[in-house]
Formats: sequence, structure tokens, C-alpha cells
Amino acid sequence: MSNQKKKVKSKIAIKTHLLPVEERKTNFKEVNLGYFDEKEVIKECERCFQCYKKQDPNVKPPPCMEQCPTHCNSREIIQNILDGNVDEALKIIYEHYAFPKSVERICPGFCQTKCTAGKKGDPIQIPHLKRYFVDHYGLPNDYFKCEPDTGKKVAIIGSGPLGLTAAYFLRKFGHGVSVFEKLDVIGGMLAVGIPEFRLPKAILNEEIENLKKLGIKFVTNKNYSKEFNYKTIFESGFDAILLGIGTHKSKWMKIPGEESKGVLHAIDFLRDFNLENEIPDVSGKKIIVVGGGSSATDAARVAKRLGADVNIVYRRQKEQMPAGEQEISETEEEGIPILFLTNPSEFICCDDEVESINCIKMELGELDKSGRPRPIPIEGSEFNIDADIIIEAISQEPDLTGFDDKKFEISRWNTFEVDEHYSTTIPGVFAGGDCVTGPKTVVEAVAQGKEIANEIHKYLGFEIS
Ligand SMILES: Cc1cc2nc3c(=O)[nH]c(=O)nc-3n(C[C@H](O)[C@H](O)[C@H](O)COP(=O)(O)OP(=O)(O)OC[C@H]3O[C@@H](n4cnc5c(N)ncnc54)[C@H](O)[C@@H]3O)c2cc1C
Repeated sequence: MSNQKKKVKSKIAIKTHLLPVEERKTNFKEVNLGYFDEKEVIKECERCFQCYKKQDPNVKPPPCMEQCPTHCNSREIIQNILDGNVDEALKIIYEHYAFPKSVERICPGFCQTKCTAGKKGDPIQIPHLKRYFVDHYGLPNDYFKCEPDTGKKVAIIGSGPLGLTAAYFLRKFGHGVSVFEKLDVIGGMLAVGIPEFRLPKAILNEEIENLKKLGIKFVTNKNYSKEFNYKTIFESGFDAILLGIGTHKSKWMKIPGEESKGVLHAIDFLRDFNLENEIPDVSGKKIIVVGGGSSATDAARVAKRLGADVNIVYRRQKEQMPAGEQEISETEEEGIPILFLTNPSEFICCDDEVESINCIKMELGELDKSGRPRPIPIEGSEFNIDADIIIEAISQEPDLTGFDDKKFEISRWNTFEVDEHYSTTIPGVFAGGDCVTGPKTVVEAVAQGKEIANEIHKYLGFEIS
């Protein structure tokens, strides 16, 4: 037996650095600053168990790789970091991500959910490790390398994570790619949903500039509509079209008082704020945000920074909140209380102005279709909370204006129906991301973006090498 002592792995993760709470309250500076130096990164990498290292990852993938929607082999990235092979680590990251600086900052970390280190301690902080390397070591040498021009042209509608990822991989195949975006900014929810303090615009814009340098054309303020539709796009010489229009239409609770002034939707509030459009003056106002996802926590944290007194009401418990654990703890740290097991039943208004919310307490029942316990109202538990402004953040769906010529098959959730190749009912027109799945995550849209680029490449008559 070897005399060498096996090093015991720490159960506790090396934490990233956060902007102190006091500093956050009045500005929009990035909150999670990541790791500061390589020593911290190496220490965190050393906690990795290198699961199934001796086996072919295509046959027996490590849990991190299996859980990640992009199937990025994080075990190998970590090993390369430990071996000092930074170029190889970067190469693996950019094989899956066109704009990893943005993605790793806001990734919920599916890779961590079954991490072996997480079974008896903290999971490895994989997104933060990857973030450190893409932040500090620049692009891999072949980032701007594309195959020779194929003469084929693809039009992408929508410049969110789905559209940007597909554009990157299609351009690398040698196709001409044009992205048409309704708004005057590029990035979808990365630009108009997620606030600066979680994803600085300078980071996103730097990565979009790289995509422009790759030869991808961007046309902003171009709305898919009756005048600019799949027929006119094909007529103008494109060989395939990809729809990635996301879910930008607010879903409302449909309760009394909702039409009053002072009832807003989180994605409209965040979009207007991010685009520097006019928003209601929230300073000094009592704001109730309804919901438990990222839209709810982001809207609440923006309103708080603008000087409002903010509370969130959510109908289930903390464990069921769709927002990430880190986002929830940062929200609470910033002085935004979350009232759990609480659901609004009516918005009380006077002269069309919101005055308060009638709420009812909930208890949790059997699991519903989403796999979460169903919230059930407790009879006789009604109570009232004062409010000047209510921000609903319960969900959103695709805005299908312009797509109403009945040629597209649409699901009962107002999303595009696609087959296993992401093809819509119109030949040559593909769709993906949130407008197909309903609201999900950036990394899921990114994973689909690469898969759809492969499908379009094959549709155009080429083989994947
Ligand atoms: C507030 C908020 C916070 C979030 N936080 C996180 C997070 O922390 N982590 C995470 O992983 N996910 C998060 N998400 C979810 C994530 O942003 C989405 O899942 C992801 O952006 C979906 O990508 P997409 O490309 O399908 O759509 P989108 O990002 O929505 O992009 C769609 C694009 O299409 C454009 N478009 C729409 N209609 C048209 C048209 N007719 N013509 C032309 N262009 C059109 C839109 O303007 C938009 O730019 C968050 C979402 C929100 C709303």
C-alpha cells in the first residue's frame, strides 16, 4: 500500500466575491464579482472528484456533463485547468458557447445538480470557474475561423441566446447569416430582461461585437410582420429561416382590479427600464411584486435600487421558487422580504389607482404537472397589504402578432409546434428557444441553438463532419 496520504477534499466551496450589500442599494454595479485570483480557482477545482475519468465520456459521461443542456464536459475543463492547459479548457468552453462571459454569469448551473461533491457538501462552482477563465484569458485562437462561404443564406428572427448561438455555429459552417431583431438592441432577454447588476451590458456588448466580427449581419428595428414574413424572406434569397422570438408577451393573473393604473408586468417594467424608456416613478412607493421566478426577483431588485419599498408575494415556499438560490439570497440580503404561501385574490383600487391587495394564505398539496406541490387556498385566511404599485411576474408567452396566417401550427400555450428536427409546419422554417419551450433558461436556449444550427446545415444539404 502506498504511504502517500490521500488528500481529503473540502466539503465547502470557495465562495465568489459579492459587492457589499450597502454598496448595492443605490447603484446597478455587478453584484457577483466572481473569483479574484487563480489560487481560489485552483482550490475549487481541487474539490472535483473527476467522476468516471477513466471512461469514455460519450459512453459514461460525468454527472455534470450529463445534466448540462449543452453537454459541456466540465470535468475535462477542470482537469485542464489543474494541468495548466488553459487553451484546451477555453477550447472546450467555446465548442458549446458563443458568448460564455454572459452565459456563465447567469447560468443556474444544471451541471451542479448531481455533482458528486454536492452529495455531502457544496457542489463544485462550475459556472464561476468557467467564468474566471473566459474573463481572464480571452478568445481561443480559432474563434473567428469559419469554413469557406457555402453560398447559402440563413435569416434568423430574434437576437436572443437562441438566435445568437445558432448564428455563430451557422456562420462557422460558412453560411451567410442575418439576424433580424424587432428592438433596437441585440441580445433578447440578456439585454432587456436581466438587469445590469447581474449581467453588465458592457460584457454582453463585447461578446456581440465578436459575433459581428465573425461576419454575422444584424438588422435591428426589424419586426417579423405581415410585410416582412417567411414568404418575403424566402423571396429575397434566404434558403432557411429560424424563429427565435422568445416570450415577450405578459401573462396576467386575471383577477379583479388588474386593469387599474399602477398594475404593471415585470417584463414590460424591466424592458422599459433597460431600454431607458419612461417608467412609473417608483421612488418612495410601496411596491408588491407577485411571483417567484427571476423576473420577480429582478423587477423587485431594480425597484428597490430606484428607492421603492418592495415586498414579493409568492404562492409556494422558498424551495419551489424558480429563481436561482443565489438570486433569492441576494434579494433577501438587499432587504426585500418574500411573503411565502401567499396569493393575491383582488387588487383594491380607488379612482383607478391601486390602494392595496387582498391576499389569501396557501397550503401545499399534491404534486402538480410541474412536479411542484399544488398551492391550495386556506379558507378564511384572507388579509390585506397596502400597495401603490403592483408588478406581476407570473409568466409570459410568445407575441405571435404577424404570425397569424394560420400556416404555423401553434400549441395551446401559444408556442410554435416543431418536429424532432426543430422544423415548423412550413418547410425551411425552423423554431427554437423560449418561443417553442415556453419560458426556460439561457443555457437551454444555447443548447438548442447549436442543435438547430446542425439541423439547418443538414437541411441545406451538408453533412456534419
Ligand atoms: C427578467 C428575466 C430574468 C432572467 N434571468 C435568467 C437567468 O438568470 N438565467 C437564465 O438562464 N435565464 C434567465 N431568464 C430566461 C432567459 O432569459 C430566456 O430563457 C432566454 O433569453 C430565451 O432565449 P430566446 O433566444 O429563446 O428568447 P429571448 O431572449 O426572449 O429573445 C427573443 C428575441 O426575439 C425578438 N423578437 C420578438 N418578436 C420578434 C419579431 N416579431 N420580429 C423580430 N424579433 C422579434 C425579441 O425582441 C428578442 O430580442 C430570465 C428571463 C427574464 C425575463
